[in-house]
Amino acid sequence: MKKELKVQLEGSLENQSLARAIAAAYLSEADPTIEEITEVKTAVSEAFSNACVHGYKNDGGIVYLEFGFIAEDTVMIKVIDKGVGIGNIAQAMEPLFTTDTSQNRSGMGFTVMESFMDKIKVDSKVDEGTCITMVKKLDIYYVL
Ligand code: ATP
Ligand code: MG
Repeated sequence: MKKELKVQLEGSLENQSLARAIAAAYLSEADPTIEEITEVKTAVSEAFSNACVHGYKNDGGIVYLEFGFIAEDTVMIKVIDKGVGIGNIAQAMEPLFTTDTSQNRSGMGFTVMESFMDKIKVDSKVDEGTCITMVKKLDIYYVL
């Protein structure tokens, strides 16, 4: 089992590219394809921006990123905020659903996470926060 990595980042959109870079750096140990790196970076990026924008309402707060391997070829990533939480998780995960009124958001974040990762689980409590758990099995080639 590879080492776990836990990172605390200030929940600001200015840190979104850093969150992506951390995800890519962690994954790179497992010899992923370029496509896999892109998919994982994008999923982490969506979860991170949700924590900043919705969880903390653009007001800052700590976002916790946790990385680990649950099998030699399977990565598990958690993105956690202690923000406002999600009242209706099923509705939040529907494609095109957004509570954003600024018209900057398309409501596709969860859909992107679901399409790029093998599994996604959302645990959330109103006023306590949200934990997104994502799992992805990598295509590992064994050279004979
Ligand atoms: P987009 O991601 O396309 O910019 P979006 O963020 O609104 O738009 P999703 O990422 O799919 O779309 O999220 C859907 C809705 O779920 C959000 O509008 C928000 O109401 C809620 N939500 C998502 N993540 C969180 C979170 N960490 N805390 C509180 N609410 C959240
Ligand atoms: Mg989003």
